[in-house]
Amino acid sequence: MFIVMVSTECAPVAKVGGLGDVVQGLSRELSVRGHAVEVILPMYDCMRYDRIWGLTKTYSDLWVPFHDHAIHCDVYFGFADGVKCFFIQPHSQHNFFNRGLFYGNRDDAERFAFFSRAALEFMLKSGKRPDVIHCHDWQTGLVPVLLFETYQHLGMAGQRVCYTLHNLRHQGVCGAHILRQAGLSPDRLMTPERLLDHTHRDAANLMKGGIVYANFVTTVSPRYAEEILTTGQGFGLQGTLATHRGKYGGVLNGIDYNVWNPEIDSALPQPYGPDAIAGKFADKKALRDRLLLADHFRPVVAVVSRLDHQKGLPLIRHSIFYSLANRAQFVLLGSGAEASINAHFWDLKHHLNDNPDCHLEIGYDEHLSHLIYAGADILVVPSVFEPCGLSQMIAMKYGTVPVVRATGGLADTVFDANYADRPYHDRTGFTFEHNDVPGLESALGRAIGLWYRYPRYFHEIRLNGMRQDFSWNHPGGHYENIYHHIRAK
Ligand code: ADP
Repeated sequence: MFIVMVSTECAPVAKVGGLGDVVQGLSRELSVRGHAVEVILPMYDCMRYDRIWGLTKTYSDLWVPFHDHAIHCDVYFGFADGVKCFFIQPHSQHNFFNRGLFYGNRDDAERFAFFSRAALEFMLKSGKRPDVIHCHDWQTGLVPVLLFETYQHLGMAGQRVCYTLHNLRHQGVCGAHILRQAGLSPDRLMTPERLLDHTHRDAANLMKGGIVYANFVTTVSPRYAEEILTTGQGFGLQGTLATHRGKYGGVLNGIDYNVWNPEIDSALPQPYGPDAIAGKFADKKALRDRLLLADHFRPVVAVVSRLDHQKGLPLIRHSIFYSLANRAQFVLLGSGAEASINAHFWDLKHHLNDNPDCHLEIGYDEHLSHLIYAGADILVVPSVFEPCGLSQMIAMKYGTVPVVRATGGLADTVFDANYADRPYHDRTGFTFEHNDVPGLESALGRAIGLWYRYPRYFHEIRLNGMRQDFSWNHPGGHYENIYHHIRAK
């Protein structure tokens, strides 16, 4: 099959969170399975250009209709960790992708509506006729709308769309004029069955458009697929999802073991694996050296996360003080889009600066994240909600025992050492139900307690996690089946 991903992220070139990892990992897995896979991305000025191999201009005469005129674009091609990527670079006074950031501008809806249109126009004009177009999150929700409203009449009648929801929190709610700018008819689309938002009167909802128009809709874990249908996690889209449940399902994300594997990870001073674990202890020492932590007999508790309300910020904060009060060291690597959240964690950092058992690193640092996954003993993920979550799966691969709130994909991947209704070899961490301090303390307390009192059992939990298979192998097969299913229709 020929598959084109239309996405606003692809690791390691343009990554804000899990979306970037998923697009990269799934694309690579599908290529390994023999499919032709290409990714179309915006050409951001803030991308990691050093991680693109062989960047060259391949198309310089693309005119993308937008509003009442057309915007001239160049298209570049390059490889991102082996994945074929096309980057769309518009030339207009909007400066859509030259903002020094990926997201967070007031005109994000306009920026990505333009990108969705540009991706389709590029496919049309360059003669690409993929079997499946796979798009992701609200930013590319207009792709199936544009395909079935416009482009199928221009020569793209054979294409099918798979649409993946990575996070229902952000839906691309915007003014109806965005639809008009993208060349669509608000009169036709602004109805409750199509793009009209449920809560904001007169607003368009781009994610809703993707759900309504795509041939198949997935979300990133089975538990989250259920939660967004039946709880407030759907953020108003429950009804739309229920209407379209016949073409909807949850596929657990994988992680790319070419990137996340302590046996071959070049970011680690010492490689290791489940059958030769000694390197992990050398990496713990290296982590302490790097972060100037005291080198004594204590577990290292870590958090690697975007600093966002979704991630359970009060419990992240509490886990710092709880760990330090319970003879554990604590390391945080986190970055936030909101200035007030970053300021709060900078205050904490200054407050704890002289503590030899604690280091808070505020910022985004891919290289350091690898060393933390390897050098830590316990990773805390106390999310309010979590569509899938990659950090707990990465942690398990690195022999770091996760302590997670049992929600979304966290509940699908981590099984409690004491209470899980699972075979012993599947018990991989510690979970808690309620989003509160007693919940966190019960799980984190058991993890730290086990590390001290029953180190052999703690080690077995560690090994159970390392032996799980969170590769893209299974999800890759699921997506292949979905693509075959929608092509046959
Ligand atoms: P989300 O997509 O909601 O951010 P996930 O757990 O699905 O959460 O994916 C997070 C990814 O981003 C993981 O690969 C994690 O290691 C990485 N990550 C998060 N914060 C940072 C940071 N500050 N520095 C480096 N990597 C980070």
